[in-house]
Amino acid sequence: HGEKSGYGTGSMRGPPPSQPSGRTLQLRPAKSPDNSFTFGNVCAVSAQDITPARDGGDTHLLINGAFVLSARPLPSFPRGHISLNDAQRTWMQVALTDVVDAQPYDPFSNGAQSYLGSMDIEVGFAGKKSTEAPYDQDELAEAFVHTFRNQIFAPGQQLLMDYRSVPLRFTIRTVELVDISSLKGPDGDAQQRRDPHARGILTPESAINFSKDARSLIQLKGSSRRPAANSVIRPDFKFEDLGIGGLDREFSDIFRRAFASRIFPPGLAEKLGIQHVRGILLYGPPGTGKTLIARQIGKMLNARDPKVINGPEVLNKYVGQSEENIRKLFADAEKEQKEKGDESGLHIIIFDELDAVCKQRGSGAGGGTGVGDSVVNQLLSKLDGVDQLNNILLIGMTNRKDMIDEALLRSGRLEVHMEISLPDEAGRQQILKIHTTKMRENGKMASDVDLAELARSTRNFSGAEIAGLVKSASSFALQRHLKGGTVAALKDDVGDMQIRMEDFLGALQE
Ligand code: ADP
Repeated sequence: HGEKSGYGTGSMRGPPPSQPSGRTLQLRPAKSPDNSFTFGNVCAVSAQDITPARDGGDTHLLINGAFVLSARPLPSFPRGHISLNDAQRTWMQVALTDVVDAQPYDPFSNGAQSYLGSMDIEVGFAGKKSTEAPYDQDELAEAFVHTFRNQIFAPGQQLLMDYRSVPLRFTIRTVELVDISSLKGPDGDAQQRRDPHARGILTPESAINFSKDARSLIQLKGSSRRPAANSVIRPDFKFEDLGIGGLDREFSDIFRRAFASRIFPPGLAEKLGIQHVRGILLYGPPGTGKTLIARQIGKMLNARDPKVINGPEVLNKYVGQSEENIRKLFADAEKEQKEKGDESGLHIIIFDELDAVCKQRGSGAGGGTGVGDSVVNQLLSKLDGVDQLNNILLIGMTNRKDMIDEALLRSGRLEVHMEISLPDEAGRQQILKIHTTKMRENGKMASDVDLAELARSTRNFSGAEIAGLVKSASSFALQRHLKGGTVAALKDDVGDMQIRMEDFLGALQE
């Protein structure tokens, strides 16, 4: 059972994923010989009962078809038993005399993966004695995440944790999932949803909100922990804010193929064996918004200001100078990776007119200088060679994909290729809207301007040409005004100058 019912929804509710190798065990609750395994959402079982995870991480068990715990296989644990502490038994509503049904559970096997965006938790004391020690909410959240990262949580779940030698009991109230499989750039709301039956994996990026238990004397202070922002998608990211018209589909494609993994913090992505995409190639006619997209990707990923370089600029006739240019380009990323390792922020390098460095590659003595070769080789080594950097995203751009060196396009290199083509009518209207936003907001656009009509009559215009059209319409309006009088008169008058449809049509005819 299970099959594909949950596929693509990212949900882990419903029937468990099919596990060909897993078998269902009938286990009797028992005391763990080692109390350290009875806290949190971990249970212990006999190492003979379950197969340990290959990577040494936790194995997850689905208990009674509804509750997921991570299981530690212990050699010393009696076969046919499972340790379930008081909080776990309360959550699952089982008694020590019951027998439970336990099945291996693979959080990733239903093809879609769910991670916790945020989780609301009620905190209380587990012991009889309480303390009035004030707890810093942020610090407690840190400790919680540190202890339980990569584990699965669901609403209603109860767990125990010692915090500064005080036993605490947590009750999960609600979880909010970030579903990377359904991430759609344009409609940001698909990214998060609330589901009372959802389960999700806790990551260091998950936000933890503690609500104070009325019975508890814990004083929580400080704001709730917000997810860290380096090198993952900014939580406040909105596609509409990007100011890119007509490229929703392209952008969401890039987003899905190149950045879904960036929702994970660097450490976790590695643990899951997910390689961040290190290079993207944007290709298509000039003026279609490639540079715009490249820059906006940087903003979205919360990277530093991207470094921009262009092909012809890199090439230098002086021996060694081109390599030096490339070296400089990567120097900051290199330095930060050395100093901070995994914690390094993301460095974006935009390489415009990438074809220029490729043209000469392999062209040999017959005119080529071989400079392009060494530039390409150096790029390759930063992407996947001995000098490999993990904290970079190289965005190459070209009008001529066919000119790009094959070696640069292989997997692990500029592996996501995206064609940015001329906008269609709807795209042109969006672009017109974007570029007239300011004049509309300032009341400078006459009501007779028909953007839909303009979109129809600008076939084969690129985004840059549409931006140019809007500028030129403004100067038409200004000229119209100038004709009406002196410059002095214009000074008083320019306040009510408006750009009309006739100005756009005039600009179109130019
Ligand atoms: P490319 O890199 O493909 O040659 P650019 O990104 O440099 O094109 O585009 C130049 C300018 O044209 C941009 O700064 C922007 O003002 C405008 N432009 C191009 N495409 C779009 C678009 N799809 N949406 C909004 N503006 C665009």
